[in-house]
Amino acid sequence: MTAERCNRNSCKRPPTPGFKTCRICREAQRDRARRVREQHETNARYAGNCLVCFKRPKLAVGTACQDCRDRLRARKTPEHKAVEREKANARAKARIAAGLCPKCGARPPVIRRRLCMPCQLTQNRHHDRHRAKKAAATG
Ligand SMILES: [Zn+2]
Ligand SMILES: [Zn+2]
Ligand SMILES: [Zn+2]
Repeated sequence: MTAERCNRNSCKRPPTPGFKTCRICREAQRDRARRVREQHETNARYAGNCLVCFKRPKLAVGTACQDCRDRLRARKTPEHKAVEREKANARAKARIAAGLCPKCGARPPVIRRRLCMPCQLTQNRHHDRHRAKKAAATG
């Protein structure tokens, strides 16, 4: 075992705690994946296909085919949620141990806060929107 190193061949940066690659490689990867996905989605929309697998025709309701719908529903079981939560907890712990924000793992958290500033702001925005929606619903 050598020192921790991002999983990408030519990359010499250290990986984000809890991940195999560094943040920069992950962002590049995500960007590429998103572009590919968008292209697939456009094609699937035209063809009337499922927007999850892009292969099978979608159902009359929703945007997924029967298979994907079943699979998505299966993922909502309490057991699966518990597993996901465990994984997220382990990742957050690794990041906190490394002195980083548990949410993004890229920046150190703000003093006496759990999250870094950008994550904190994102979360605040999230809460604000939630509150606004609630206020609108109640009149
Ligand atoms: Zn990298
Ligand atoms: Zn599907
Ligand atoms: Zn963060």
